[in-house]
Amino acid sequence: MSVESSITKAPIFPEGSNEEKPSIMKLIKFRFKQSSASRLAEYITGMRPDDSRMPDRLIEDQKILRAKYHLPPREWRRDFPSEYERILRKMAKESKTIIRSKAEYEKFFQKHSVAGLYDGATNTTYIEIDHNTSSYINDLGVLEHELVHAAQRDKNMTFELKEYEAYVAVSNNEYFKENPEEIGFVLFGYFIGKSVEVEYFEINKHTTSGPKSELTIKPIWNDPQYFLKNIDKVSQVDIDEYIKNKKLVKGKI
Ligand SMILES: [Zn+2]
Repeated sequence: MSVESSITKAPIFPEGSNEEKPSIMKLIKFRFKQSSASRLAEYITGMRPDDSRMPDRLIEDQKILRAKYHLPPREWRRDFPSEYERILRKMAKESKTIIRSKAEYEKFFQKHSVAGLYDGATNTTYIEIDHNTSSYINDLGVLEHELVHAAQRDKNMTFELKEYEAYVAVSNNEYFKENPEEIGFVLFGYFIGKSVEVEYFEINKHTTSGPKSELTIKPIWNDPQYFLKNIDKVSQVDIDEYIKNKKLVKGKI
C-alpha cells in the first residue's frame, strides 16, 4: 500500500469504537481548534464568548465590580468628565497610587502598545490624560482601569481575573449586548487577551528572550488538554488516540 492510500484510509474513529466515541472525538477536535480568546473566556467565566448568557453576565459582573471597587456612576464619565476625573484622582490619592505620564516609562511602552500600566511594586500607574482631545473620555476609562488594578494590589488573584475585572468594570457592556459577536474577538481577544499576554511576557522576561512558544511560565488555559481533562473529563487514552489519528491523517507518521 502506498503512503498516500494509507493516509486517506486512516481511521478517524477506529473499528470497535463504541457509540460515544464519535462525539468524544468531536469534542476533542473542538478543543484543539478553540481560539485562545474563547479559552481565556471559558477559563475566567466558565462560559465561552458565544454563550447566549454571556452579555448579561458582563452587565451583571459590571454592577458587582463597580460596587466592589467603589467606582462612581459609569455614565458620569461622559456626562460630567471633570467631576469623574476629580473622583478618580481622589481615589488614587486615598490608595497612595502615584499617577505618572507614559513618557516616564518609555522603555515599557516602546515594547508594548498598551494604553496604560499599573506597577504594583511601586504602586504607580503610567497613563496619558489629554483634556483637550476627543480621547479624554477614553483616557478616563484607562485611568479607572488602572485604579481597579491598584485596588487589587494585595489580592491573591490570577492575572487573568485581574484583567477581566478591570476591563469588565469599565467597558461598555450594553454595546456587547447589542453586538455579542464582538465579545470574543474584542473583549477577550484584544483587550483582556493582549494585557494578559503582556503580563506573561513580563514575568518571563528574565528567563526567556525567545518567542512566545518558549515561555517558561505559560498560561495553563491556552492548552486544549487543560479543558479536556479538567472540564470535559476526557481520558488521556482518548486524547492520545485523537492525536495519533490526527498525525496519521496528516501523514506525519
Ligand atoms: Zn490591566
